[in-house]
Amino acid sequence: MTNLLPEMAEIWQQTLNWQPTVQQQAQFQRLYELILEGNRQLNLTRITDPQEFWEKHLWDSLRGIAPLLLCSPAPLLPAPCPPALIDIGTGAGFPGIPVTITLPNCTITLLDSTRKKITFLDNILTELALTNAKTLVGRAEEIGQHPQHRQAYDIALIRAVGAASVCAEYTLPLLKQGGLAIIYRGNWTEDETTALQNAVNQLGGVIESIEQFTTPLSHSIRHCLYLRKVTNTPANFPRAVGIPTQKSL
Ligand code: SAH
Repeated sequence: MTNLLPEMAEIWQQTLNWQPTVQQQAQFQRLYELILEGNRQLNLTRITDPQEFWEKHLWDSLRGIAPLLLCSPAPLLPAPCPPALIDIGTGAGFPGIPVTITLPNCTITLLDSTRKKITFLDNILTELALTNAKTLVGRAEEIGQHPQHRQAYDIALIRAVGAASVCAEYTLPLLKQGGLAIIYRGNWTEDETTALQNAVNQLGGVIESIEQFTTPLSHSIRHCLYLRKVTNTPANFPRAVGIPTQKSL
């Protein structure tokens, strides 16, 4: 095998107090191989080196949901089990697929507007025998107004899809009251927090916490923003397709 992912058992343990089972490690490995293969046809990711893939795709995806990995009565979740998650703009499946592998008791919806990416993910789910996820082709602006999806999720994940206020407008309408949006960021400043506050208020949320951390191999800075939905999102949000990015809150 030329493209073998590292196991990093100690780093998983030290950073997230968690380790993959043998089966989960095999699923990570197979995921990596399928993405390398898929990259030949589709522009899925620039990150192909095994260590870098481990850090920037696997570790980073799971760091955002670290509070859920500790399976004790999850303090973050008021909802009854099993929690419903959605990954908005999942692309090649990040953070959604590593989360699906790691949290078999959760159900995950993988949303992307690009049909080709969703077709690729359908194949991944089959190959990895993952039954707790389903895929959805659509735009966050439309899905957020759909009765089947609006206010239907306990947790909404979003990484590398747009400005934080855009991410807030995509995620908060989809959450049940008490639900949590997890926005993955690189750099983040206090000024950005101040600016985001207004958008989050309008959408029925509060900024509950912001975590800063460094990635374990390359020591790059990352942030996760945790937004709690505290009241209903007004019906006009999310606005029509394209508006959240053109006229961000
Ligand atoms: N979350 C992945 C992919 C980021 S690229 C990662 O972190 O690696 C951004 C993805 O979001 C693309 O696949 C794009 O098709 C999708 N996307 C962008 N705007 C969207 C929208 N409004 N609704 C749904 N998907 C969207």
